[in-house]
Amino acid sequence: MGYAPSDLALVPFVSVENMMRIVHATGIERFMRELAGCIEADFRRWELFDKTPRVASHSHEGVIELMPTSDGINYGFKYVNGHPKNTKSGRQTVTAFGVMAEVGNGYPVLITEMTMLTALRTAAMSALAARYLAPQGSRTMTIIGNGAQSEFQALAFKALVGTDRLRLYDIDRSASQRCARNLAPHGFDIEIFGSGQEAVEGADIITTVTADKQYAAILTDNMVGPGIHINAVGGDCPGKTELHRDILLRSEIFVEYPPQTRIEGEIQQLDPDHKVTELWQVIDGRIAGRTGRDQITLFDSVGFAVEDFSALRYVRSLLGELPCFDRLDLLADPDDPRDLFGMLMRAGPQPA
Ligand code: NAD
Repeated sequence: MGYAPSDLALVPFVSVENMMRIVHATGIERFMRELAGCIEADFRRWELFDKTPRVASHSHEGVIELMPTSDGINYGFKYVNGHPKNTKSGRQTVTAFGVMAEVGNGYPVLITEMTMLTALRTAAMSALAARYLAPQGSRTMTIIGNGAQSEFQALAFKALVGTDRLRLYDIDRSASQRCARNLAPHGFDIEIFGSGQEAVEGADIITTVTADKQYAAILTDNMVGPGIHINAVGGDCPGKTELHRDILLRSEIFVEYPPQTRIEGEIQQLDPDHKVTELWQVIDGRIAGRTGRDQITLFDSVGFAVEDFSALRYVRSLLGELPCFDRLDLLADPDDPRDLFGMLMRAGPQPA
């Protein structure tokens, strides 16, 4: 055909295989720390981002969402789904891919898998929030829901907070066993429990990361003692929550972007004017995080576009050192920019 796109039109593409190479070459704990550093830096410049609640298309089985944002120089978006029943047919509950582009000319500069990257960024975000909110010296974390996200959560908390004792519970014991097996080489002390009630005993931090499209009560009021930090990750859709409302009424609640969290987070159970604190203001030093030993702090995580933007720019920054990417022939590139039609015709059968 003889078509040879210029470098301008070839978009770096990070496949799942290359993402795994990048994470291994960097080291997973270093990756988590550096990614959390990018999120922290972007939360400190929060006000300059273009922000909107994500665009969600709901169905009975799950949700498909688009998550766009821009810092004025780059634009990023993620496509992500959440389908809790998917694991029964051998599929992931959550899959994703993302794009970063230059605002100045609109050309994409990165397209990447984000299933792995979402697990990494969600964990990095949770651990970053806990650095500001969890009790000093927290070493013991309970994880309720031991599916795809759980090991990432454990490793990010170890890297950023220092939690090295894990108490696991899942309605499917084999999920807890897999999680414990995968984490065994990473220096944790791990116990598996037969109920959430037993698993939360003695925990400094409770992470809930279950998947079920209903108003669930993974944690009830009696399970949460004073001084606990709750990292609530699994309630991230209208009609999908994990905590009993009474816990929310006793907690100091921290959120990413209130207009989105009020629709999707645990706080959908509360009045629309219930006081919540935006995490960026804590990270920026404008508002205190944890202010007392007995306070219950709750990070009502739903996942916001700025975190994906941070993840995209972090991965892009690694590609100079680690050329783990392909170049996708994604953008038509005629020699004369206005001769798009001529380019198409020259690629077809030529007159004899
Ligand atoms: P997954 O399906 O791989 O794992 C979920 C686990 O929860 C399963 O092992 C299941 O057995 C367990 N579970 C379900 N109900 C339970 C219950 N009542 N008690 C104990 N365990 C229970 O899903 P995943 O990829 O690990 O995602 C988990 C959740 O996190 C999903 O709801 C997803 O939407 C959410 N999520 C949130 C963010 C965010 O930024 N907040 C990002 C990614 C995923």
